[in-house]
Amino acid sequence: MAWKTIDDMDFAGKRALVRVDINVPVENGVVTDTTRIERIVPTVTDIQAKGGKVILMAHFGRPKGQVVPKMSLEIIAPTVADVLGLPITWVNSDYGQAVAEMEGDEVMLLENLRFNPGEEKNDAGFANRLAGLGDIYVNDAFSAAHRAHASTEAIARLLPACAGRLMAEELHALEKALGTPDRPVVAVVGGAKVSTKLDLLGNLVGKVDHLVIGGGMANTFLAAQGMDVGKSLCEHDLADTARDILGKAKAAGCEIILPRDIVVAREFAAGAANETVAPDACPADAMILDAGPATVAYIAEVLESAKTLVWNGPLGAFEIAPFDTATNAAAAKAAALSKAGRLTSVAGGGDTVAALNQAGVAADFTYISTAGGAFLEWMEGKELPGVAALQTD
Ligand code: ADP
Ligand code: MG
Repeated sequence: MAWKTIDDMDFAGKRALVRVDINVPVENGVVTDTTRIERIVPTVTDIQAKGGKVILMAHFGRPKGQVVPKMSLEIIAPTVADVLGLPITWVNSDYGQAVAEMEGDEVMLLENLRFNPGEEKNDAGFANRLAGLGDIYVNDAFSAAHRAHASTEAIARLLPACAGRLMAEELHALEKALGTPDRPVVAVVGGAKVSTKLDLLGNLVGKVDHLVIGGGMANTFLAAQGMDVGKSLCEHDLADTARDILGKAKAAGCEIILPRDIVVAREFAAGAANETVAPDACPADAMILDAGPATVAYIAEVLESAKTLVWNGPLGAFEIAPFDTATNAAAAKAAALSKAGRLTSVAGGGDTVAALNQAGVAADFTYISTAGGAFLEWMEGKELPGVAALQTD
């Protein structure tokens, strides 16, 4: 995979159309988390430092091709100005004229792209109109790259295109984790259900040396091997699929690591009375809510000799203590090894990022992807249209 970055482009006197992800949470008109805006700062400042003008293009919410006032980017514009420390002009009409009148370090923010039905249809006409506003296209929205939209795919084929800083950082981290990783590679896949992660498991067994299966989905694998999982979350209808995955892993030389001990409780509640038992000893009236200490010890041992870790999905019901114990302990181990320079660790997924933050170790991971769906599709081995459109060979 090869793509151009900001360093490869000459921005002097040019207008850069920059696709960003500033789809931030807003409550009562106030932005409650500015993380996504903070992450676009290097791209904006570097383009300006190279003499370019910045025109930001973004989506906000799911207006489905219609103008929905509460999803106007006008709401977010002041926060973008604050975080960037630059004057922002939000525009919802006469884009061409507004762009022609841009002055100094002023940054233009176009109205929510998804107000136009052409955006999500990857419409050539809409992409052409956007392309007409600039000289260079910069995609800094990895998290939107799994969708072929006018502002992520079609436009990249109309203008000289490159990856923004955040996109380049994300692609670099992901390439290092699963493209050409240092081995052994360990993947940890947890979370609620096997059904949402079938493609992901299928792709990983052919790529990694050790695959830890945890969380609710491990129950499906235990049940598929004939164990009684009591009242646990379990997809019994996927027993054949689980056995297929085990067979595929064996053929590929991938070690599957299932819970060696389990933490069971009678209710799904914080502080619920619980006990640690063998995987085949879940009482009929109990449910498995976490992996036990023997499992964590073995995961730690595998991580000790690993060079690369990719992680998606918590090992237990991490939202309710003490069923966050295995997730926290494995995360702490991975973080310590990463901090010591012994492990390249990449993690992603909505709940996974929340769990690692809750464990207080996110900062020590090599890379935490906040891309959600795009991260998962990448872990599934799928080509991301927005990334493919940037590729130069
Ligand atoms: P991500 O968002 O990182 O991709 P998922 O959405 O797949 O992760 O999984 C997270 C969810 O899995 C959490 O809500 C967590 O409570 C749930 N979970 C993990 N282990 C279990 C379990 N043993 N029983 C029930 N739910 C579980
Ligand atoms: Mg989730």
